[in-house]
Amino acid sequence: MTEALSQSEVKRRLEMACDAVVANQDRLTKADQAIGDGDHGVGMARGFKAAREALATKPAATVGDLFKIVGMAIMGKSGGASGAVFGTFFIGLAKGAPGSELDSVFYAKALREGLAAVQARGGAKPGDKTMLDALVPAMDAAEKASTIDEALTKAAAAAIAGAEATKDMIATTGKAKALGERSRGHVDPGAITLSIVLAALSEQA
Ligand code: ADP
Ligand code: MG
Repeated sequence: MTEALSQSEVKRRLEMACDAVVANQDRLTKADQAIGDGDHGVGMARGFKAAREALATKPAATVGDLFKIVGMAIMGKSGGASGAVFGTFFIGLAKGAPGSELDSVFYAKALREGLAAVQARGGAKPGDKTMLDALVPAMDAAEKASTIDEALTKAAAAAIAGAEATKDMIATTGKAKALGERSRGHVDPGAITLSIVLAALSEQA
C-alpha cells in the first residue's frame, strides 16, 4: 500500500494528465459546441500542452511547485473562462501541497484549496453546471479516504459521476447560461476536463 506519492511520481502523473487533456481535445470541442462556443478543446489543449513543456523545463522544490507550474502555464496559454478557471484551480492546489510527497491528507487539502480559489475567482456555486460540479464530489471523496490510492481513485470516480450529473442541470453561469433550459441534456465541458485530469492522476485514463 502506498502511503504517499513521491514528487517525481506526482510529476509523472501530471504529465499524463496533460497528455490526456490534449488527447481528448475533440471530445471537449464537441461538448462546448453543444452548449457554448466550441473553443474549450482548443484552449485546454493549448494550455495543457504548455503545462507539459513547463513541467519538463521549470525547477520544482515541492509537489506544490509542480501544481503551480501547471497552473501558470494554463493561465498564460489557454485563454477563455476555462483558462482562468483551470489556471486558478492548479495554483490553488499548490497551496494545499507544500511538501515533497503527496498523501491522502494533502491531496484532499489541495482539492479544497483549488475549489476555494476557483470559487473566489469565478463566483460560481455547485449546481451552476460548471467544473465545480465534478470538483466538489471529488473533494468530498478524497476527504473520506484513508490512503492516497483510495483518495485518487475515489476522487476520480466521483468527478466522472459529477460531470455526468451536469447533464441534467440548467446552466446558470458562463456562456451556456444564455441557452437556459436548452443547456439541459448536455454534459458541461469544463466538468469533463476536470474528470479527465483527476482520472489521469489516479492512473485510470
Ligand atoms: P468560454 O466560456 O470563455 O468559452 P471555455 O469554453 O474554455 O470558456 O470553458 C467553459 C467552461 O469553463 C465551462 O464548461 C465551465 O466548466 C467552466 N467555467 C466557466 N465559468 C466558470 C466559473 N465561474 N466557475 C467555474 N467554472 C467555470
Ligand atoms: Mg467556450
